[in-house]
Amino acid sequence: AHLARIEAVDEKVHAFLHVDREGALAQARAVDEKRAKGEKLGPLAGVPLALKDIFTTEGVPTTVGSKILEGWIPPYDATLTKRLKAADVVILGKTNMDEFAMGSSTENSAYGPTGNPWDLTKIPGGSGGGSSAALASFQAPLAIGTDTGGSIRQPAAVTGTVGVKPTYGAVSRFGMVAFSSSLDQGGPCARTVLDAALLHEVIAGHDPLDSTSIDAPVPPVVEAARNGSVAGMRVGVVKQFRGEGYQAGVIQRFDESVALLKELGAEIVELDCRSFDLALSAYYLIAPSECSSNLARFDGLRYGLRTGDDGTHSAEEVTSLTREAGFGPEVKRRIMLGTYALSSGYYDAYYGSAQKVRTLITRDFEKAFEQVDVIVSPTTPTTAFAIGERADDPMAMYLADLCTIPTNLAGNAAMSLPCGLAPEDNLPVGLQIIAPAMRDDRLYKVGAAVE
Ligand code: GLN
Repeated sequence: AHLARIEAVDEKVHAFLHVDREGALAQARAVDEKRAKGEKLGPLAGVPLALKDIFTTEGVPTTVGSKILEGWIPPYDATLTKRLKAADVVILGKTNMDEFAMGSSTENSAYGPTGNPWDLTKIPGGSGGGSSAALASFQAPLAIGTDTGGSIRQPAAVTGTVGVKPTYGAVSRFGMVAFSSSLDQGGPCARTVLDAALLHEVIAGHDPLDSTSIDAPVPPVVEAARNGSVAGMRVGVVKQFRGEGYQAGVIQRFDESVALLKELGAEIVELDCRSFDLALSAYYLIAPSECSSNLARFDGLRYGLRTGDDGTHSAEEVTSLTREAGFGPEVKRRIMLGTYALSSGYYDAYYGSAQKVRTLITRDFEKAFEQVDVIVSPTTPTTAFAIGERADDPMAMYLADLCTIPTNLAGNAAMSLPCGLAPEDNLPVGLQIIAPAMRDDRLYKVGAAVE
């Protein structure tokens, strides 16, 4: 049914870069066989899923939305892919994304943009717009995203779906193409809080192949999602997450959510987190710096595209011609910014200062979580904007992640879930819930209560 739905609507939505029809049917048949034989089934047996094209899939193309990996067929599965298969999930295919997960609209994909199912002229968010659009257009009931600065939560917000960035280190990064390794985090996307929790439990957990993976039990997210409640909880509202640049309808729905939390028995606490005003600036030094190092591996020799290998060019020239042809403008911009910020003489002023700001943000969160159990905010300052509207204005694009970035810098956990439509444009608004590291269960407890 989901393959038929993809066939019927994805020409318009363009959520998928690759539909693995044969692979999906084979996985589904294998589940049927297991069931017929009375064998033990995985926890999500037969449930179809859309996988962001940033996770390697053995024998199935993985492009990361980039021309530089066009035609590359990974010889191995990411740990996350392996876990999905072990849970008997049916992987429908790979979803569209901003190239190397750099962007907030999916317009930076080398393979064309994805439409927002609520209004195809609007962006579905980014970088994981393909995954969120697949959910919102009922092409898949579950999806996977990655969140470096908001790429799970912002697409969830603008498509009226649920997305969770787990605590940094909760979900293995092995086989997840690196953008900014100290920020990147894979996580679940779904249409309900409980669905997200069921997927969270399958993908999270320690992996010896990822040195930053947390070696501790996964917080009880499913139990929390089944027992939604905010009674007696202290909920923080951060002063810095409103004001200039926030759409009136977004603030209206957010204020209504806060009123609902109060009605359900939460105590609301006002918080002042001054360092959050610097988060965007720090992020746009740290993320490009790490990307400039991570993307050095795309040299035209190891994988994917190779340009100029005609016997007339040196190896260095082949590398530079391949990068010129294979990377899009946003990726080049970030590599140059990062290389500059890390260069000798500038390192302390740029990268060093950004790291200090990162520490201040972590401390502001620590102080906040001495006073509250969770923090809530709008997920994004505005609803979905039009395709093309911010494409030539990187700064306007970066502002989409104003509320999501502090969490990545501090490494704690956050969820976005729908909280109604903005009255001025009838487009979905997202409510963000933020919890301390390793307390991902609180996101689900609160999320399930207000869903
Ligand atoms: N939009 C942000 C960026 O462009 C975040 C991307 C992400 O989370 N992968 O870097």
